[in-house]
Amino acid sequence: MAEELKASEKFSAPHAVLANFAPLGVLGKSAGGAPIYGRRFAGTGKRILFIGGVHGNETEGIAATQGFFDEFAAADKKPQHGSELFFIPVLNPDGFLNASRHNANGVDLNRNMPTRDWLKNEPGEKYYSGPAAASESESQLLLQILDDFKPEFILSLHSWKPMFNVNGPAHAYARKMRSALPYEITEDIGYPTPGSLGTYAGFEREIPTITFEIERGLPLADVYRTVRGALLAVL
Ligand SMILES: [Zn+2]
Repeated sequence: MAEELKASEKFSAPHAVLANFAPLGVLGKSAGGAPIYGRRFAGTGKRILFIGGVHGNETEGIAATQGFFDEFAAADKKPQHGSELFFIPVLNPDGFLNASRHNANGVDLNRNMPTRDWLKNEPGEKYYSGPAAASESESQLLLQILDDFKPEFILSLHSWKPMFNVNGPAHAYARKMRSALPYEITEDIGYPTPGSLGTYAGFEREIPTITFEIERGLPLADVYRTVRGALLAVL
């Protein structure tokens, strides 16, 4: 596996990409006042929370939710597994619009969840966890959705070294995904992630959670067809 990662390709018009999700409806506002789009799709099967764009600069994850939106959600459809789907294509619109990992307050949202091991650090750090656990509006929205929707499986799209990072009892889901895309299944990404969604939901609450690290640097035009099978295997 290559240790040298390419940079994520940037969208040429991120405002237009974000606005394209508007038909989903607005769930809330980011720290910077941008809309967080999303929708709950009815179903009788498992409740699945499907999130992209926690890190706004990891555009591969947003290319994937864009492809999923265009194929399914735009027409108010979802894959035919009967699952009840809560879809949030870009949780961190500030970061996406500014090509940044962080929200408008400089916070890494994947370090801001109120885990037992939440760790305070300094503004300006790459993993800045915020002034307090769950200080950010995006985190508060996510917590509210976890409480109300009670997902039985969470899939969160990022980009890095290609892997299905399993948090909590999500191995069966990871194996289904790997049957469509031969990425490594990992439990340990090599460093602790206090305040992450995977720690909060997966490890602390035993909600099966997969942090899907799409290969960073994949051309955005190729992302959806690369990951589609893996997504449809579990959504
Ligand atoms: Zn990430």
